[in-house]
Amino acid sequence: MNNKLTLENIQQFDLDEFQEISGENIFACYQCGNCSAGCPAADFMDLAPHEVIRLLQLGQIDEVVKTNTVWICAACVTCRVRCPKGVDLSKIMEAVRQIVLRKKNNYVDLNKIESELREKLPQIALVGNFRKFTL
Ligand code: SF4
Ligand code: SF4
Repeated sequence: MNNKLTLENIQQFDLDEFQEISGENIFACYQCGNCSAGCPAADFMDLAPHEVIRLLQLGQIDEVVKTNTVWICAACVTCRVRCPKGVDLSKIMEAVRQIVLRKKNNYVDLNKIESELREKLPQIALVGNFRKFTL
């Protein structure tokens, strides 16, 4: 990411689409950090939850997608309970995942799984992988 954020280098993404998918207002967040302080998965994340929302406020969704955070989030909603503004980060993380999925950039490529193994795998595992491990 650029070291300096200016009006010129702030990337625009479709905020209306994002708000529609997530149902959340990312600008309600005032960066108190309560969500990250209570997140049980924060130690395993490249970006803390409050950093994700700050980058989104700045239009930097591409930077968020480069990290593992939205894929590590366990949707436990601890952050939602702790947030003084009622922001539900689990929905925001899911919205980022959905936007990536809609671009069809699949990390799991069915064609690369041996056919014998593919037939044995439970379908729900494949569906789960598409949702969770799509980069
Ligand atoms: S707890 Fe809520 S207001 Fe505070 S940083 Fe997290 S999302 Fe923002
Ligand atoms: S929903 Fe995700 S971001 Fe929020 S506390 Fe749970 S693991 Fe952390």
